Amino acid sequence: MDDVIQYAKTLFGIDLTAEQVALFQKYADELTAWNTHTNLTAIIEPQAVAIRHFLDSLSLAPYLKSDTPQKMIDVGTGAGFPGMVLAILFPQHQVTLLEATGKKIRFLDHVIELLGLKNAQTLNARAEDAGQMSGHRAKYDVVMARAVARLPALLEYMLPLAKVNGTCIAMKGISAQDELVYSRIALKTLGGQFDKIETVMLPTVEEAHYLVIIHKIAKTPSDYPRKPGIPTKKPLI
Ligand code: SAM
Repeated sequence: MDDVIQYAKTLFGIDLTAEQVALFQKYADELTAWNTHTNLTAIIEPQAVAIRHFLDSLSLAPYLKSDTPQKMIDVGTGAGFPGMVLAILFPQHQVTLLEATGKKIRFLDHVIELLGLKNAQTLNARAEDAGQMSGHRAKYDVVMARAVARLPALLEYMLPLAKVNGTCIAMKGISAQDELVYSRIALKTLGGQFDKIETVMLPTVEEAHYLVIIHKIAKTPSDYPRKPGIPTKKPLI
């Protein structure tokens, strides 16, 4: 985790406390241990886990408010990236980890308990269902997602969960610009407005990553999200 401490400071202006670093390490150790019997991540080499999972998750921090408590949700969090890392970084924010796969939820619940995180909770559901639940629809200041679906479908997962005036941040690879071009109809239909794309370069990673930042400017019509599977099968393009 030494690299994470150093790069978090130089790249993102984050001063990690010794306690946060210890929690990151405990989480990484648990990920490695569980991955021997449960398929959680293809990235297993410790240096790659540190950079591609932990540091990459921290790249969101400069775009999140830290002064006022926020409600955040990570859609398709998998083994907890970026949501769990941000819950450790920001104890003042409430982070919901949304994931459809039960075995990943079991891992996340175990980590939350082991680390004693009071501000993280899991939600075992499809995003399409969560977006229609009264306890989750339009309830979040920040909705984030990494590596879940192409942007037109992803926006249908994310925007219904955001409050009006809330923010959605999609962590994307090289296809970010292209996906955005195809997202015009999804944005208009779902109440989103493109704000900006930020480029993230991580040490030892050749290709750039992109943060696509969207503001929610209007309520999402009640027809959205559509039933599970429909946003990817028939994206709003
Ligand atoms: N965000 C994590 C990361 O970057 O390491 C996990 C990425 S993994 C490629 C995509 C995850 O999204 C999987 O765990 C999958 O089960 C979940 N997922 C895909 N579609 C989903 C949906 N409609 N609702 C909830 N979870 C979903």
